[in-house]
Parts: sequence; structure tokens; C-alpha cells
Amino acid sequence: MEKQKLSFQAEVKQLLHLVTHSLYSNKEIFLRELISNASDACDKLRFEALNDNALFEDAPNLEVRISFDKAAKTITISDNGIGMSAQEAIEHLGTIAKSGTREFMGKLSGEQARDAQLIGQFGVGFYSGYIVADRITVESRRAGLTPEEGVRWVSEGTGDFEVETIHRDKRGTDVTLHLRDDAEEFLSGWKIKSIVGKYSDHISLPILMRKEEWDQEKQEQVTKDEWETINKAAALWTRSKADITDAEYQAFYQQLSYDSTPPLAYTHNRVEGRSEYTQLLYIPAKAPYDLWNRDKRGGVKLYVKRVFIMDDAEALMPTYLRFIKGVIDSADLPLNVSRELLQESRDVKAIREGSTKRVLSMLEDIAENQKDKYSEFWREFGAVLKEGMGEDFANRERLAKLLRFSSTHADEGVSLADYASRMKEGQEAVYVITADTLAAAKSSPQLEIFRKKGIEVLLLTDRVDEWLLSHLYEFEGKPLQSVAKGAVDLGKLQDEEEKKQAEAAAESFKPVLERLKTALAGKAKDVRVTTRLVDSPACLVVEEGDMSGHLARLLKQAGQEAPNAKPILEVNPEHALVKKLDGSERFEDLANILFDQALLAEGGHLEDPAAYVRRVNTLLAG
Ligand code: ADP
Ligand code: MG
Repeated sequence: MEKQKLSFQAEVKQLLHLVTHSLYSNKEIFLRELISNASDACDKLRFEALNDNALFEDAPNLEVRISFDKAAKTITISDNGIGMSAQEAIEHLGTIAKSGTREFMGKLSGEQARDAQLIGQFGVGFYSGYIVADRITVESRRAGLTPEEGVRWVSEGTGDFEVETIHRDKRGTDVTLHLRDDAEEFLSGWKIKSIVGKYSDHISLPILMRKEEWDQEKQEQVTKDEWETINKAAALWTRSKADITDAEYQAFYQQLSYDSTPPLAYTHNRVEGRSEYTQLLYIPAKAPYDLWNRDKRGGVKLYVKRVFIMDDAEALMPTYLRFIKGVIDSADLPLNVSRELLQESRDVKAIREGSTKRVLSMLEDIAENQKDKYSEFWREFGAVLKEGMGEDFANRERLAKLLRFSSTHADEGVSLADYASRMKEGQEAVYVITADTLAAAKSSPQLEIFRKKGIEVLLLTDRVDEWLLSHLYEFEGKPLQSVAKGAVDLGKLQDEEEKKQAEAAAESFKPVLERLKTALAGKAKDVRVTTRLVDSPACLVVEEGDMSGHLARLLKQAGQEAPNAKPILEVNPEHALVKKLDGSERFEDLANILFDQALLAEGGHLEDPAAYVRRVNTLLAG
């Protein structure tokens, strides 16, 4: 191929601009990125060579070499991995192929674009070379191609790049960075070693550099023609736990996840028995920006006997644990396993079950011993963990214990066990209410009697909570009972005297109830007297089997069909406004106002707001 000039894809230009303008405070990450690419290239070669051993040619030992030239001001990162054909160089280095990257780029705008933390978390890959270089030359030959099919790619990282075919004997890739004047600090063996130690110690292939020695006569470091390995070169998870420091675990996490915040917790185990594997799993401290994408693949990499097989092997973790990052290295799976095969494999099922249990144990331990840390976890990932209640039947009981709620007792961190320990003598249910916001939940009129009697009610305000309730219907034998559904039956919590009073009130109120029913026939399914209210005149409830008003609204907002079940209006016969009904000339107006206010109080929308305003104004004026 003759030398040709090509233009970068628009997104690449954007990314390049970002990289050079936002990351100069954290220059050294370029080395991590380029070593990571070299390591990926070796993984790919090892994987392709499983079916075609000839790809190794005469160089079966995969490695990365780093060299630098002080005079020319260059650093070169070389690998003998899979390499690239000319076409691949054009595609992989000229466009952003990963859909995740595109999505991420789309999200970056204005202020955010300057957030180096965010970009760092994401990992900018190859283009990070331009933080320190004003020109990058890539020379490569793909394994299996002839020496005449090498490629040279050159770009200054602005608008375009040049490619041409070259003769290249070696398989693999050399990436040469022509350093900017302000990046000359990297022309130092010591500096490079320290960066490799920081980010790439656990890369499982050797990273080599020429030995340096202090020359007494010249009074400077001289480079010898002898290579030495400068990293530990053993995959971290294969090493014994006792020999790994916390800092090493954290560095590995960073490499794995591009998350610069240290993980909340991790677990590292060798599992033996029916299925043999090693797991190293991390719980991140912060939720990623795309946590809500349930189609997103998981964060666990699969290795088989140290050979990298695939990223994001979703079959290894249940969907509700998609935030877990880590590595699983199996001793039993075949090396040529595919995603499809993974779905069906019994070994994978055993690994998934085992790993899920590990994560749950880790969470239980934090919940038990580090309450503050658990609250942090819950704030970030609680809503995702809730999905597990519907997804993971086998672990439902363990999951239920990990749930945390707001309640009338505390704004956050209430577990079902805490709730149970505070239940009143004779209390037969766990009481809950759902609402859009905590404030709305707290001021629900339905709570009044519970407040008065000091009975705790869980306040559920997450979008998934309505759904959660359909999977969480009891805790330790006590049913969960919505205080906005059905007639309130406090059972043994109400004494005989109160019950009698309520019955008497209902009896004497009968004629008014009949008139209310007629007046509100279009709106309310029924009207009845209640003891659940203390300060409010009325509230809406739905029948036991009906969908709550809150859920119906959520569904409608989401553009889904929701049954139009009419609610029941419950009135407080002790309230002045309700007492006023009997004998009032404006019975209709009052009745409608009672209903509309009850609907407003629970966050509902009036069908005819203008009519409501008119009625209230008439009353105010009169
Ligand atoms: P990522 O590594 O996340 O895919 P990068 O920007 O780091 O993104 O690299 C882009 C692509 O360029 C890689 O996916 C790979 O196909 C190719 N590439 C980069 N470096 C090398 C290398 N040393 N050997 C072979 N291919 C490489
Ligand atoms: Mg990369």
C-alpha cells in the first residue's frame, strides 16, 4: 500500500482534544494504557494460537519491551503479540469502535469535559499517548502475515494520520512516542520503572527494560545491552493471598476498572471441589454512570488456566450484581469456550452460584461490622441489589436481610431486622407506604394512626420499590402490609374501647356516608369511616388486590397501561371539616374538595384542577 493520508473519525478528534487538554495533570497514565494494549495483544495471540500454533512463529515467549532514547527524545513500547494488519491499524487507531466509548463521549459536555477524574475512570486507551507525545509512530505486523505486510502508522494527533505498507520481520507492534518538551522527565529508567511498578506490576507477562548502571567515570547512568524484567510478571490472582499487599490489590482494581476511587471491599479465594477456580472480586465504592443499563455486560473477566478468554462474561454473575468487578480463572472450562456455551455450562453455573454467595457474604460482613461503609454501599448500589429479590430466588432470604429502608423511625439504614426488633407487642405485620419522595411519604395522612401509636412504618420511595413489594411479601413470618391498601386493621394493637367507639361513629355516620357515595359516584369506589386518620379529614386507599395509586402513576409516566381502579375515600368522623358535612348547603362542593385534597396529598393529579379551585374559592369567599 502506497503512503496515504486519512482523516480521524470525528469522535477521535474530540477525544484527542480532550486527552491533550484534560489529562496533562496525570501524564503518566499513558504508560499504563500502552502496556495494557501490549498485554491485550499478547492475550489475543495466545488465544488465536490455541487453534493455530504456527502463529507463534519462532517467538513463543510473549513479552513487552520498553526502551527510550534520550537524544531522539523517544520512548518505544514493543510487544510480540497479535499485531495489526494495515486495515486493522486504520480501523483501530483511526476510529472509536467500542460502543461504550461512543456513549461516554456523547455524555461528555461542557463542564464535565474538564473532569479529568471522569476521563481517567473511563480510560482513554491508545490516544493517551498524545498527553506526552506530539507524534506517535506505530509499526506493526499481524501474526500470520508475511514480512511484506507490515504497516507504519504515523500521526501528530490532530486531524489526520498516515499509513503505508512496510517490510517488518518481527511479529507484533512497536509504539514510538516522540515526546513533547514538557514530558522529558519520562526519559529515565528510574521513572519508567516506578510507573510500571505502580500500574503494571501484576500484568502477567514480563515487561523488560535495558539494564542501567552508574558509571563512576562519566558520573551518569549508562544503559547496558542487557535486558531485565521490571515487573512481578505474575497475574495477581495467581499469587498467594499472604504475599499480596492491600496496595497491590488496589492497583489491580484500578487497572481492571479504570476507577480511581479505591474499592469498597474485595475477596480473593481459590475454590476447590466439584468446580475448581480462583475468584478475585471487588465491590466498587462508586456506581458507574451506566449502572442502570441492565443490558450492560458484567464487569468480570474470564480466564481459563491463566489464559484470558473474555471481558465482561455476564454469565458469571447475576444481573443484579453487574457492578461487581474482578477476575475468575477457571481450571475446568475448555479454552475455546464461547459466550453461548457459557450460558449452558454446569461449571459456569457452579461458579456463578459460588461467586454470588461470596459477594453476599462480603456484604453481610460489611453490614454487620462496618455500618457506615454499608450505608455508602447502599446509597450507591442499594436500588440494584433490590432487583435480586425478584431475580435470585435461592438467595432471597439473605438479600432481604441486606435491604435498607427509610422509616418513620429513621431517615435511612433501617433493616427489616431492625424493624422487627422495634415491633410493638401484638403487631402482626410489617407496615409500609410507597410514595414519590421521602417528604411525601412522611406526610401521608395514612400514617397518622401509626404515628400516634408509635408504630414504625417503612417509607418506600425508590422507583423499584413497588416492584420490590411484589417479591418481598413477608419477613420472618410477618406479612408486609401497605398502610394505603385495604381497611386498616391494627388487630391486637387497637383496644376494645377504641374499636367500639369506631363502630359507633360509623353507625351514626351512615346517612352522611350514603350521600357522599352518591356525590362522589364518578370518582370513588366506596366511602367509609376510618380510624387511621388523626389530623387529616380524609385519605384515599385502594382495595387489597388493587394496584396502588402510586404504582399506577409510575406506570403511566413510563408510558404503560395502568388499570383505572377507583380508590376508596376514607373519612375521619372526628375532623371538623367532616363534621361540617352534615347539614351543609354546599355538600357537593365539600365532598369533592375532600376527595381532591386526599388525591393531592398522595401526589396524584386532579382531573379537573380548575373545578377544584373554583370550589375552594367559593368556600373561602362564603
Ligand atoms: P482498547 O484497548 O480499550 O480497545 P485502545 O484505544 O487502547 O482501546 O486501543 C484501540 C485498539 O487498537 C485496540 O482495541 C487494538 O485493536 C488496537 N491496538 C492498540 N494497541 C495495540 C497493540 N499493541 N497491538 C495490537 N493492537 C493494538
Ligand atoms: Mg487499551
